[in-house]
Amino acid sequence: MKTALVTGIIGQDGSYLAEHLLSKGYQVVGLIRRSSSPNLERISDFKDKISLEHGDILDQPSLQRVFEKYEFNEVYNLAAQSFVGLSWEQPIYTTEVNAVGTLKLLEVIRTVSPKSKFYQASTSEMFGLAQEVPQTEKTPFYPRSPYGVSKLYAHWMTVNYRESYNLFTCSGILFNHESPRRGNEFVTKKIVNSIKRNELLRLGNLYSKRDWGYALEYVEVMYKMLQLSSPEDFVIATGETHTIKEFVAEAFSYLNEEIHFEGSGLDEKGYTKSGKLILEIDPKMYRPAEVNLLVGDASKAKKILGWEPKVKFTQLVELMMKDK
Ligand code: NDP
Ligand code: GDP
Repeated sequence: MKTALVTGIIGQDGSYLAEHLLSKGYQVVGLIRRSSSPNLERISDFKDKISLEHGDILDQPSLQRVFEKYEFNEVYNLAAQSFVGLSWEQPIYTTEVNAVGTLKLLEVIRTVSPKSKFYQASTSEMFGLAQEVPQTEKTPFYPRSPYGVSKLYAHWMTVNYRESYNLFTCSGILFNHESPRRGNEFVTKKIVNSIKRNELLRLGNLYSKRDWGYALEYVEVMYKMLQLSSPEDFVIATGETHTIKEFVAEAFSYLNEEIHFEGSGLDEKGYTKSGKLILEIDPKMYRPAEVNLLVGDASKAKKILGWEPKVKFTQLVELMMKDK
């Protein structure tokens, strides 16, 4: 039986990945931080089938302890301060967790468990001010937030440990991926929650474009990457891009509501046909620097891993809106 460590196991991706690894017959070990209140709801259906170990990616001795207790064939590093917006408010913390935390984990692998295969959760945010369209594994990086910069450090360290120490370390450069388990502060989940609760939606920039895929399909590719005989990095994306405004309109269509927009910029508002105000702009939600356009080309993943997304924009909005 293979054994895998998943950091960030109680997050969106960690919970789907743990289920996927269980379905493949793995012993799954998850790293969790102590919390003052219950926060295991994403893994509640299967938590008896996995082992949870307390630790923190910033606390190297706790990582060391876990690596001394188990022999890991695979390590998936999903732990992160993952919210771009917060990264301007807490740039140092974001950098410590996402950049230095990843380095600490790599150091433990190098010294204690050099045979473990390592997956790093890299991100399309590293493309930031995109230097070409669509973005591929060869597109130059230009991060636009402390989050993007911190993830780029971790990405290059993953490459560097591969090249310096001949470790099996690789990065999945994943474009945004969503699901009913997505954190509530991300724009897709915020839109869906607010529509379902019949609340006024307050958003920032409606005109940035994202390549949104389905998290369940994206964790499958993390696993596939670690089954290769030699490590490689991959862009994972749907190849479709849509504005936030299009997401809002598509989500409202599931209520059989047509939304119409009036005004522009900070004065833009959204109304139902009957004239009810349903969307307004909150300037506080604008970011100091924006990533305007992300759209990925995942043809390398299709060719080498045989991976292709089935769920694209319309189906994604549908499954998030129909989730109870
Ligand atoms: P989530 O925010 O849902 O999950 C992140 C997890 O990391 C949480 O379980 C959190 O634990 C844990 N964590 C945070 N800090 C630490 C720490 N110091 N030590 C140990 N664990 C910690 O993110 P997602 O599941 O959406 O994303 C998974 C990974 O993929 C992240 O690295 C993210 O940056 C990256 N990514 C995500 C994309 C997306 O669209 N979802 C796109 C590209 C990359 P706790 O609950 O205790 O806070
Ligand atoms: P990101 O791509 O990882 O930053 O994912 P988010 O879902 O947080 O943001 C996606 C885009 O939506 C960004 O361009 C944001 O500026 C934009 N956006 C507009 N309004 C909001 C909002 O209210 N919340 C969030 N999170 N993003 C918003």
